[in-house]
Amino acid sequence: MRPDMGVTPEGVVDVRELEATRGAERALTWSPRAGVARGYEPMRIEPGNELAVRLVGLGGSVEAQVSGVVRVVFPCDRCLEPAESALRVRFTERFAEPDVFARMPAPVREGEEDGVTWSPIEDHAIDLFPALLRSLLLAAPAKHLCRPGCLGLCPVCGKDLNEGPCACRRERGDPRLEALADVLRDLPDADAP
Ligand SMILES: [Zn+2]
Ligand SMILES: [Zn+2]
Repeated sequence: MRPDMGVTPEGVVDVRELEATRGAERALTWSPRAGVARGYEPMRIEPGNELAVRLVGLGGSVEAQVSGVVRVVFPCDRCLEPAESALRVRFTERFAEPDVFARMPAPVREGEEDGVTWSPIEDHAIDLFPALLRSLLLAAPAKHLCRPGCLGLCPVCGKDLNEGPCACRRERGDPRLEALADVLRDLPDADAP
């Protein structure tokens, strides 16, 4: 069952009353469902986020303004341990009744008019999750690191080098330099007594 006056964790809001009344407003709080959304792997939404949702009836359509901070986790680019980010999101999405939406020209639906995209109202409800996921991806940093200067995994044995060095020889050097190193190692140490 859908709560009449709230946003479900899945981002669904019943807008039956708002649809018809131009200028009607409702302010709600949304705690988005935690976890990984299909198609948006490996981003994981953490539990306990709260977003402010303002809904405005436009007469046959509804505008949703969503803002807040969402904590998400990506695997660290270097060691795959969780790398958390707090992403600030702010987006506006408009929802039109299905027959209105069907008649809308594609450029309008896609926000080419004023940057606000449209989705259909389905069964007198709107779904805020797809727009949230798009906003999170836009807000996400290009690099995900579990800590500044993460040392990553050894490419040979896979050990997490943040926990300490491994026994692998990391790089095969130039054989001529290796030969020189051997010669130098064999020379008596000039500082030795
Ligand atoms: Zn890392
Ligand atoms: Zn190693």
